[in-house]
Amino acid sequence: VRRFFDPMEQLSVFYNSLQAATAALEKISGVLEEQSELTPPADPVPLPARNGRGRELELRDVRFGYRGDRLVLPGLDLTIPAGQTVAMLGATGAGKSTIARLLGRFYDPLAGSVRLDGVDLREVDEDALRAAIVTVTQENFLFRGSVADNIQFGRPDASRAEVEAAAAEVGAERMIRALPAGFDTPVGQRGTRLSAGQRQLVAFARAVLADPDVLILDEATSSLDIPSERAVQQALRTLLADRTAVIIAHRLSTVEIADRVLVLDGGRIVEDGPPTDLLAAEGRYAALQELATR
Ligand code: ADP
Repeated sequence: VRRFFDPMEQLSVFYNSLQAATAALEKISGVLEEQSELTPPADPVPLPARNGRGRELELRDVRFGYRGDRLVLPGLDLTIPAGQTVAMLGATGAGKSTIARLLGRFYDPLAGSVRLDGVDLREVDEDALRAAIVTVTQENFLFRGSVADNIQFGRPDASRAEVEAAAAEVGAERMIRALPAGFDTPVGQRGTRLSAGQRQLVAFARAVLADPDVLILDEATSSLDIPSERAVQQALRTLLADRTAVIIAHRLSTVEIADRVLVLDGGRIVEDGPPTDLLAAEGRYAALQELATR
């Protein structure tokens, strides 16, 4: 089966429902024509055995642009060791989403390579890649169905008990049980409207159930009320444990739990280090923090 890749909508693996796929296709039809298909490997290279702590990600001299005339990433080198949590910061247009898309192989670099445990993503079998790297975005991540269906999408063969356990693991069980029909409450189009924080918890439960080696998270919601913020923060800690994670961070609390912060500007990494070190260095990260807390 040939895949089409779209910048945002297909960023998540969460589009198996026909309605969602149709809606996404409508939204992106303008982009599709420009988009080349990514070629599945003729002779896939197997990934090394899982080690339970995630996998190493590497961008090796990656050049990338959406159109031939302008490079968004002029040549990026980045190694993320297995198990590390990396928060990406930077102004709109700095290249954060582009890096996230390359890490999930929604695009291939024009030059250089993106590697998972040393294996070029272009050489990894598609199913293995989708199992190893899961991308969670905020956009439309609930499809029409029950809360349980939405969580189960993380691992379609999971039992109901496993779905409920995943919800409990991220601290979402009580919130879900309080909905009109608990786990069977319909959500998505015309379903019960969940708050931003509730949607995020459902997405996290889905991701915990999928249990990927690498999690790419676009944290689009910058403001949650305080109880939601606490719940999401706690869920995030669970979700990030024992895997590699790259987060496009919009909340200070998220940045603070990262092992490492990357500040991007014009497709380049301008600051790179543990948040406390960057704060002490009084550079861009420190200035962003200052703005956010003012
Ligand atoms: P960020 O996530 O940091 O806001 P992006 O990675 O979205 O930055 O954008 C980096 C640059 O790439 C910007 O100049 C943006 O306009 C451009 N860009 C992003 N997505 C697309 C796309 N689908 N087609 C063409 N240009 C794009």
